[in-house]
Amino acid sequence: VSFGEELVTPAEKTRRVGEVFSSVARRYDLMNDLMSGGLHRLWKDRFVNRVKPRAGEDILDMAGGTGDVAFRMARRGARVTVSDINADMLEEGKKRAEARDLDLRWQVENAEALTFDDAQFDAYTIVFGIRNVTDIPAALREAHRVLKRGGRFFCMEFSSSDWPGFSQLYDRWADNVIPKLGKAFADDEASYKYLVESIRRFPRPLQFRAMVTEAGFVRAAAEPMLGGLVTIHSGWKI
Ligand code: SAM
Repeated sequence: VSFGEELVTPAEKTRRVGEVFSSVARRYDLMNDLMSGGLHRLWKDRFVNRVKPRAGEDILDMAGGTGDVAFRMARRGARVTVSDINADMLEEGKKRAEARDLDLRWQVENAEALTFDDAQFDAYTIVFGIRNVTDIPAALREAHRVLKRGGRFFCMEFSSSDWPGFSQLYDRWADNVIPKLGKAFADDEASYKYLVESIRRFPRPLQFRAMVTEAGFVRAAAEPMLGGLVTIHSGWKI
């Protein structure tokens, strides 16, 4: 499998992804704002509008990091479990939840092999997380397993854009600006180069939709934004 431009073993990729997020955890929220020009907030709002969390529902926010998406769902009354492979990201998230007086559950988990029982959750969400997972089909199968019948799967992820002018503009931003922001604000150019490369490699919307179907979901749908730079994927377990 690849890590940035380098070929490494699956175990090595998982280890290095761990390092990336430990390294960026403290500055993660600031960096999101800088790298996306604040757009990630709008994308996350839109995503949560699609999920339509209801009061009392059990939702698993996988690769939930510092809780950005989980907080939006908890504010609507859902009971949210935030899981991530990286304990440092979750620790940052817990502090932020306390400051916001929000009550969530936090649990370290690898998306590829969850410790939850079958049919536990009404919805499973994963935002800007699945491209970092080494075995994506395994993660999708696990999402399907832990959902109840009638449960909903939602994923938001980056890929390349197919809008010609915009895509070139984005490439320039991604290659020239993002690693420099990483260096200046988080003293970590390598991690941000990896993030840019992982975005480029992620399957295009229709390809990923086929993977969601392959994992057993029905009515899999892809809603691309900005020509597929960001896509909201969904599917149902029946
Ligand atoms: N969802 C959050 C958000 O949108 O702000 C965090 C997204 S962050 C870009 C990606 C997260 O995926 C990191 O917190 C990282 O630790 C997590 N991650 C990477 N590989 C994972 C895996 N195999 N299982 C669970 N989480 C993983």
